[in-house]
Amino acid sequence: MSSIRQIVIFLGAPGSGKGTLSRMCVDRLGWKQLSTGDLCRQHVQEGTDIGKEIDFTIKSGKLVRDSLIIEMVAQWLFTQVSGVDQTVILDGFPRTVVQAESFMKMINDSFSHVVVKVYQLVVKDSEIINRLSSRIVCSNKECQAIYSERGLNQDVIHIKKCNICHYDLIKRNDDAVDKIHTRLDNYHYHIGALLKYYQTIGIAIIDIDGNASTENVFEEVLSSERMIQ
Ligand code: AMP
Repeated sequence: MSSIRQIVIFLGAPGSGKGTLSRMCVDRLGWKQLSTGDLCRQHVQEGTDIGKEIDFTIKSGKLVRDSLIIEMVAQWLFTQVSGVDQTVILDGFPRTVVQAESFMKMINDSFSHVVVKVYQLVVKDSEIINRLSSRIVCSNKECQAIYSERGLNQDVIHIKKCNICHYDLIKRNDDAVDKIHTRLDNYHYHIGALLKYYQTIGIAIIDIDGNASTENVFEEVLSSERMIQ
């Protein structure tokens, strides 16, 4: 029998470090990551019907329609979560109040006694723009590891291969400057209402300084986890 003990939502602008933090939690804590961005890109690469429908939307930096994202999440939750007492990370979902409402209903209807926590990675827009414009990612749809052309990982950048699976590193279409601005605008458009929604249903938002090093960000999450177990 499988069950979810805890849902941890990583909230934050694109490029705020949600993906990197999620991977650290997967590797070090054994949590399970659901990244809707990764799922969308997998559909596109595999050329599924969903992939064909969302390809242009993703490339233009806009949001995929709520009903499709919710369907993808439901499918993932009911097929991919195995084992007992799992902690599941939501990376890049929910992004709108409609998504959050549907998700909370899905959880309440299908799982009992699940704790939901929301961590918000706070990073200035200027830093987000710098990060996204220098981001390169692994082209392997099963991996999609994240690297930066800025300073870090120089050995990897030199050969432009992923040091996990050795696939080529590429720039994402939606990391072009104009698309970055569209994505940031979308984020700012929805975030206020989303925060208000969590407040309304009694879920506190735990702010994390996303400007800190990846290790420090991870440590901050870990110490909050210890405090609120
Ligand atoms: P990400 O990798 O999280 O930056 O997501 C990449 C793209 O996938 C987004 O710009 C959207 O086009 C799409 N996407 C991912 N998650 C969602 C979501 N929760 N709602 C709508 N669109 C999404």
